[in-house]
Amino acid sequence: MTTTDTGIQAGEQRMLIDGELQLTDGGTLFDVEHPGSGQVVGQATDATVADMARAVGAAWRASENANWARDIEFRFHCLMQLHDALDRNKERLRRVLVTEVGCPISVTGAQIEEPIAEVKHWAEHGRNFEYLVDTGIHQTHLGPARRKLSYEPVGVVGAITPWNVPFYLNVAETVPALMAGNTVVLKPAQLTPWSGTELGRIVAEETDIPAGVFNVVSSNANEVGAALSADPRVDMITFTGSTATGRAILAAGAATVKKTLLELGGKSAHIVLDDAHFGSALPLAAMMACVMSGQSCILPSRILLPRSRYDEGVAVLKAAMENFPVGDPWTPGIMQGPQISAAQRQKVLGLIASGIESGARLVTGGGVPENLPNGYYTQPTLLADVDPDCQVAQEEIFGPVLTVTPYDNDDEAVAIANNSIYGLSGEVSGTDVDRAFAIAQRMRTGNVTINGKSHFGIASPFGGTKQSGLGYRNGTHGYAEYLAIKTIGLPE
Ligand code: NAD
Repeated sequence: MTTTDTGIQAGEQRMLIDGELQLTDGGTLFDVEHPGSGQVVGQATDATVADMARAVGAAWRASENANWARDIEFRFHCLMQLHDALDRNKERLRRVLVTEVGCPISVTGAQIEEPIAEVKHWAEHGRNFEYLVDTGIHQTHLGPARRKLSYEPVGVVGAITPWNVPFYLNVAETVPALMAGNTVVLKPAQLTPWSGTELGRIVAEETDIPAGVFNVVSSNANEVGAALSADPRVDMITFTGSTATGRAILAAGAATVKKTLLELGGKSAHIVLDDAHFGSALPLAAMMACVMSGQSCILPSRILLPRSRYDEGVAVLKAAMENFPVGDPWTPGIMQGPQISAAQRQKVLGLIASGIESGARLVTGGGVPENLPNGYYTQPTLLADVDPDCQVAQEEIFGPVLTVTPYDNDDEAVAIANNSIYGLSGEVSGTDVDRAFAIAQRMRTGNVTINGKSHFGIASPFGGTKQSGLGYRNGTHGYAEYLAIKTIGLPE
């Protein structure tokens, strides 16, 4: 483990299988880069498909034999231990996160403090959940019957996570599953293995969570995630990542009809109404596009402006993007760091070029900041006059890029917003809140923000429509996803 002046922190190399922190047989490691400099800063164990099979076997045995599924108080005790241990490790976890993601240290609160608090939330929510519900007497053709609903663990849950908010999503995908009595195998993303292996280390060293109940398998190979999603011993896959991988996971699970929870890509629209307060709505829109370098699934990256105020809106966005603090993620006050990798930045620059080729006007940005030649930085970029059917308006960019398209009336704005294979989230800005609300109801998405008021949080269900996902995280709905309902008919 090393710590340098920049705060670079290498994470745990070992995975966790059946209660043991271990390297893969033969000891193969893969490199982890710091996106802020492009330098290799450490390694993680490169697990094989055979390692994944061992981890699933351990989770399956723990699910069949252990008391974990039945003892709610013990699960509460273990998850409160985990909460306290994560809190003790907080500053190390923060440095690991900035090291492998390049997320600015100034904006890590939502990715460290919040998920740690969520562990406690799920422990308490799970302890208070009503697992046996008496629905009373039902009249049937065989006479009256009492019915009880028994909420039971699904079994073995495979959790597969992406790199953009890795520690948060590792917690969000596994902790409610564990509290609901399932056993878990976590497969973190290739670019961010340490936010997963650190969780494994802390579970192994600082909690009473029994061997096999929680496993973490880091690997540089997509086949290892694919093996998890196809294993017949896995009852459920919970996945966050791209729509393309989501489709592959659904197909892999079809043979054994796996329960599948998918949170996928997005291409959300922000309808700015003609009565909106541009001076507050548009700088906030620019900030959302640049914080996290645009690597956010719920980012409203398509700005729809009324033609009557189009030039005014483009000017406000331009000024906000040109003044956005981009730079080294370790520097306090910096709000936009690098893209996660060279390949990801190349993809972003390619999509910007395709937008310009299809007739969009480059208002600002479009390249690499001159003062940041090392690492994977991208200029905040504004493309105006964007054709809603072109590639840059249809594909998820995952970069600090906003596209702007004019519209003539509310119906046209809704039609452009809904012209997408995705349906994750959306935004409406306008001073007439009833009008904005009516438009929000017409958007075919799982979530909508009105006038910057966030829809996202632990207490409210979050999920996508269309090709943005299946099922929900958060809220009581999100917890119930990790439970199967058994209906029992019995004498009155
Ligand atoms: P990705 O789909 O490439 O990878 C996600 C995970 O899937 C990784 O762990 C990867 O190893 C694994 N994987 C790859 N191929 C697999 C296969 N065939 N079978 C099983 N697992 C496989 O996504 P990414 O590039 O890491 O993350 C970015 C994507 O995640 C974006 O599309 C973004 O919108 C999405 N995302 C969605 C949400 C949400 O809540 N909807 C949140 C964050 C990110």
